[in-house]
Amino acid sequence: MTPYSSTLSSVLKDESRMEGKALWVSQPQSVGELLDSLKEAAEKGIDITVQGSRTGLAGGAVPAGGLALGLSKLKKSMEIKDGLLLASASVALGEAKVYLKRQRLVFAADPSEDEATLGGLFATGARGLKTEPFGRQVQELLWALPTGETLLARRGEACFDSTGIRIFNQSIKCPVPVKSRFPGVPFQGQDLIDFLSGSDGRLGIALNIKVKTFPKPKNSWAIAFFLKSEAQALSFAEAASDASREFLKALWIFDQNALSLLSKSRASLSGLKDIPEFPSDSDSAALAWLEGDDEEGIELAMSGLLDLFSESGGSESDTWAAEGIEAEKIAPLKHLAEEAANMELDKARLTSNAIRLSIENSYGSPIKAFRDLGESLVQGYRILSVLDGRIHARLFALQDPGKLVLGYALRALAEGGFFASDYGLGKAKRDMAIDLASPQEKECLMAIQQAFDPASSMSNRFFRAAL
Ligand SMILES: Cc1cc2nc3c(=O)[nH]c(=O)nc-3n(C[C@H](O)[C@H](O)[C@H](O)COP(=O)(O)OP(=O)(O)OC[C@H]3O[C@@H](n4cnc5c(N)ncnc54)[C@H](O)[C@@H]3O)c2cc1C
Repeated sequence: MTPYSSTLSSVLKDESRMEGKALWVSQPQSVGELLDSLKEAAEKGIDITVQGSRTGLAGGAVPAGGLALGLSKLKKSMEIKDGLLLASASVALGEAKVYLKRQRLVFAADPSEDEATLGGLFATGARGLKTEPFGRQVQELLWALPTGETLLARRGEACFDSTGIRIFNQSIKCPVPVKSRFPGVPFQGQDLIDFLSGSDGRLGIALNIKVKTFPKPKNSWAIAFFLKSEAQALSFAEAASDASREFLKALWIFDQNALSLLSKSRASLSGLKDIPEFPSDSDSAALAWLEGDDEEGIELAMSGLLDLFSESGGSESDTWAAEGIEAEKIAPLKHLAEEAANMELDKARLTSNAIRLSIENSYGSPIKAFRDLGESLVQGYRILSVLDGRIHARLFALQDPGKLVLGYALRALAEGGFFASDYGLGKAKRDMAIDLASPQEKECLMAIQQAFDPASSMSNRFFRAAL
């Protein structure tokens, strides 16, 4: 651990654009050094903030005055064995994808920020274009506890039941709900690995992971559908969500503001150079991703989507379809919207105190939620993942965006939904989650924090002092 100096100021921020403070910095090169830093910090009562590549959008890697513990210099290793990738958590997603590509393998999940570390993807519960979360594919995990000890978790070996979970040769007793309402609260039957995925640097550090890989599908297609009104786009979404999931792996709806933001960012975003101009009279768009080995099956699924698009008022001339490498150029539209949003935020900061928050609330009806959010959205955009009901909204320069997000979270929970968090709760949404928690959920969260982090030294913790 070395004292913080202003030459290291990059450790104070992440892509959420929040900025914190640090008194200490540690960038260990080996697991041994990392565990020593944890022990030293615990002994001195210093708050710890874990940092991967700091591409997170929820402020989880923003230090809170204590130690910024960066994993970027930690020794990297990768190896494929029995279809599993064994990798250190410091490996970047882009590095892993290149390594897998050489062997014609892919991950089931496809988060899009290549700089992000595998540990960061695991810790934030990251997903990408497709609905599969990265963490759900992890079969084995070497985990460092905040105390500097380690834990080896194997999928299937430890799961929560209604009374808690048995780990570290002890029982963590807590009332575990049947269904979880937000990340951090476990549910009955949940595997320890799935619970730790999404724990956002609150309960320790992922050191090594073993994650499933798959042969690259023989065929992949991206189709963009442009529609003249949001009502048409949502009617298409509703019809298409019932379509066969055998080949349809992703379907996203972009509202008019998202399309406008992308169009106006064209000159500055290199990824948009490969993407044609959107049809000038389009109000909303849908992006579908299909993949599989059965070429005929995919063609049938695509023509089914085109029929639904026509029935919703779309015209075939307002579609783009691309295969293989060309499809991969269109697919990052959602990623590019995130980049455009960050650029917009930086620009707005020059003149106003712009704030951006993410909402990923699954309602009973995500399409209704998407529509309702449009009515109250002052400035920003909405993107909806139709197949699993995730809404990503970016809110700019609002008076009180937190209040709007909280309102949506409350409604999502009241309607039996989930206050989801593709980007993690981080520091941006952690307090909101704790405000939403019931007394039983709080009891559960406290018992888990006490077991994993008895000195409550992780800066993203839910509770200031351990019980
Ligand atoms: C343009 C853009 C596009 C993006 N697209 C996507 C997307 O498609 N899908 C998606 O899910 N996210 C996306 N993100 C968000 C971001 O890339 C992910 O949240 C990513 O998982 C963060 O990884 P990182 O290594 O940068 O983690 P950091 O930002 O450094 O940390 C994120 C959180 O994880 C914790 N953490 C980091 N490493 C570890 C570890 N080894 N063990 C335990 N905790 C750890 C940190 O404490 C923090 O709470 C995008 C971001 C940008 C800027």
